[in-house]
Amino acid sequence: MVGVSGMENRQVMNKDKKYFFTCEECGSHELYVEYSYTIRCGTYYETYSEVGELDHAHHIEWYDKGIVESGHDNDYADDEDDVDVEGDESDGPEWVIDEESEEWYVRCCCCDREIEFGWSRPNRGGRIWPAECADFKPWRCFSEPRYYQEWKRRNWLRPPSTEY
Ligand SMILES: [Zn+2]
Repeated sequence: MVGVSGMENRQVMNKDKKYFFTCEECGSHELYVEYSYTIRCGTYYETYSEVGELDHAHHIEWYDKGIVESGHDNDYADDEDDVDVEGDESDGPEWVIDEESEEWYVRCCCCDREIEFGWSRPNRGGRIWPAECADFKPWRCFSEPRYYQEWKRRNWLRPPSTEY
């Protein structure tokens, strides 16, 4: 398997090291993050979309959150249609995030181009590392699941012992 030593030559396509990120298409230095997810409580659901700016320390400054959709899965008998979500039953269901619904995108602020990225910790944890940022080292992050196969093909994944 490929270790760290085989990868120096992949030090990525950044011409301008002064900037955290320089878009190849439009020259912008700013990135934003889109995060959408669904939360569920019993048969009710709400889907949200959040948008934030990714700063140069790889932190997200959230500035917009909106509800995209909400509703009710009609899987249950009609007579349960009007159950109050807040619940009279003291131990009613709680709102939980549907992990399979989570979607993350990193895009150029100017041209909206999608930028591949990884995470500093497994399972989408820690900070976001865009593949085109100046300090990007693929083997130091965990690929966003959507890019996993492509990164595997490029030998960008961490050594096998730390893959998830
Ligand atoms: Zn751009």
